[in-house]
Amino acid sequence: MTERKHVMGKKPDRVIPADQIGKLDLAPDEEAEKSQEATGHVSPFWVKCWNCQKFLTRPLAPPSEQAYTCPNCGAVNML
Ligand SMILES: [Zn+2]
Repeated sequence: MTERKHVMGKKPDRVIPADQIGKLDLAPDEEAEKSQEATGHVSPFWVKCWNCQKFLTRPLAPPSEQAYTCPNCGAVNML
């Protein structure tokens, strides 16, 4: 079993310009996740929302954003 790599999202301590905020996707539920692990299609990057504690997946590109909006609760997570 591989350990899921993730970073904790941080509550922003400053205003992030909207054009620097990317979007995250909700992580699949555990059942879907297990089947993804089995087929090797696990998201390479996980973010845990500081507000709602959900695991979220970050798209690989573009890599330049420094903050992401949680699709579950709308909180901005700084990385
Ligand atoms: Zn959240």
